[in-house]
Amino acid sequence: SHPEVVKAGKEALEKYGAGLSSVRFICGTQDIHKELEDNISKFHGRDDTILYASCFDANAGIFEILLGKEDAVFSDELNHASIIDGIRLCKAQKFRYLHKDMKDLESKLQSSNARIKLIATDGVFSMDGNVTPLPEICDLADKYQALVFVDECHATGFFGKTGRGTEEFFGLNNRVDIINSTLGKALGGAAGGYTTGPKELINLLRQRSRPYLFSNSVPPPVVGCANKVSLTCYFFVVFDFTYGVFRIRRKSSIQYRTFSNPNDKCRLATDMANEMLDRGIYVVGFSYPVVPKGKARIRVQISASHSFEDIDETVEAFKQIGKKFKVID
Ligand code: PLP
Repeated sequence: SHPEVVKAGKEALEKYGAGLSSVRFICGTQDIHKELEDNISKFHGRDDTILYASCFDANAGIFEILLGKEDAVFSDELNHASIIDGIRLCKAQKFRYLHKDMKDLESKLQSSNARIKLIATDGVFSMDGNVTPLPEICDLADKYQALVFVDECHATGFFGKTGRGTEEFFGLNNRVDIINSTLGKALGGAAGGYTTGPKELINLLRQRSRPYLFSNSVPPPVVGCANKVSLTCYFFVVFDFTYGVFRIRRKSSIQYRTFSNPNDKCRLATDMANEMLDRGIYVVGFSYPVVPKGKARIRVQISASHSFEDIDETVEAFKQIGKKFKVID
């Protein structure tokens, strides 16, 4: 909603129209698409980038191109649904390691004599907000000659010192081989996804990746907005955001606070969220299949435009409603 971002979207709409009525390789590529791919490559310090209509598509389109039946993929059990679906589409042997469990990952890597080994993980996990042990993953990748793939949807633009994500957070300096991420969160919030990495991989995806080849290119207004975020507005928006979160973390009692829910009924999450909504606080109850069975929860989405008073009011409302539903004392 930043005025500069909205303006850039309008300008792209005026100049290029609502859409290009085409996939990228026919007549769906304009200068702004190449500009955005370049901006993203620079942002992550990678050779090249390929845009998709969403990160779901980016995840759906990568594994079957990279891995054949002689290969193996090692995937964290809590990876995002789109990674799981992407892996399903490939013919590689599939290993699912216990969430963030490096012993389990290592024993699975040890047991495999696959041609290419690929470790796939979320950088920041989408439902728990916890962070993958990326330095250990990179060490294991070196030890067993594996590639590292990280989905950075919940990190790009705000995690790490300058928003470059999990790799930057750990100071790993380009040890990750492939990054997939979204424009649908911090980088504009509209839609779009990408793979960024070595140019040989990106060239291969441009030739073969099915969601890229067989789906319309990202609409110009969306590209215009994302370009604006990645260029001029980026530091402003990120600064604003991280400063906001920093302030919230410093001052608010909501930090790391979880309410235990012994019976874990998904109905409870929905009912509590509805009561919050009745008070004008927009939070949403999540249950299976978005999270595993028995792990229902309420998602609270905070932005830099929230005030301390908003946060305090939310915490207070959670306390009162939690008591009413006998979730907290
Ligand atoms: N990967 C992760 C970890 C996500 O959280 C999401 C979206 O929520 C996606 C991929 C899909 O991104 P997109 O909305 O761009 O399809």
